[in-house]
Amino acid sequence: MLLKEIKNIYHLELDPLFPKEEVDSFFYLVIDHYLGLERFILAMQPNLVVSKENEDPLFFALSQLKQERPIQHILGKAHFCELEFRVDENVLIPRPETEELVYWIINEVQKGDPREEVKILDIGTGSGCIAISLAKNLPNAKAYALDISKKALQIAGENAMDNGVDIVFLEADILSLEGFKDKFDVIVSNPPYVRELEKLEMKNNVVEHEPGLALFVSDGDPLIFYKKITRFALSHLKKGGVLFFEINQYLGEEMKQLLEAENFSEIELRKDMFGNDRMLKGQLDPK
Ligand code: GLN
Repeated sequence: MLLKEIKNIYHLELDPLFPKEEVDSFFYLVIDHYLGLERFILAMQPNLVVSKENEDPLFFALSQLKQERPIQHILGKAHFCELEFRVDENVLIPRPETEELVYWIINEVQKGDPREEVKILDIGTGSGCIAISLAKNLPNAKAYALDISKKALQIAGENAMDNGVDIVFLEADILSLEGFKDKFDVIVSNPPYVRELEKLEMKNNVVEHEPGLALFVSDGDPLIFYKKITRFALSHLKKGGVLFFEINQYLGEEMKQLLEAENFSEIELRKDMFGNDRMLKGQLDPK
């Protein structure tokens, strides 16, 4: 079959379910993954033929997409901060908003002395995307990452290895963080923050395929993880150390107040590329 015919079939079957540009991007990710073909192949070779056996994975991927399985799960990988990460149903698929948080941290750390080691702790690391991207971009970083899920830690470990960085991984529950002797220059976390009431707004492919453990928090105390981590940061950040959070877009003010109440300074709330309150930074007194 001609590659352009397959592309048409993708659009026919998926356009009712997804925006057209998204269907385009699925198609090009799939042909890149299975056939090693570049995005611009159809412009260069409009009559390219795909052999019968090479068609099979393309149609298998299509059938999975129709069932709203995330493209990253079908291909087993996601891109984040220009790196590749393995993902499956045990970890959250890295989001572009989180890339913005990582670039913010890189920027802040780069203001310091590049010869001094910067100890970073990522709480609730999932696929490891935050810790690994920081370690990859900051040669003076020593990164630690923890998660409650053994299966997530397994994937994060593989991702660290694939990306050639050395990270200390630890199995721990955010709600009972104990026994850490180390103090850190930076603590970062993207804990679960989606309230039950917001679940209704979420897409099926997220709710049905991504781990609830990494996403949802009870409506009763939606800041429970942030409160724990903030208290932990008070005793485990070095003087002048910085705490970074990815946050629920509807709870920006509450989050700012939480850091103010614990006497953090230089508090800054930032929006993501979609214009939503999404990240927060606060610093511990340098004296
Ligand atoms: N931003 C993610 C989503 O909306 C949620 C991430 C999280 O709960 N930490 O799917």
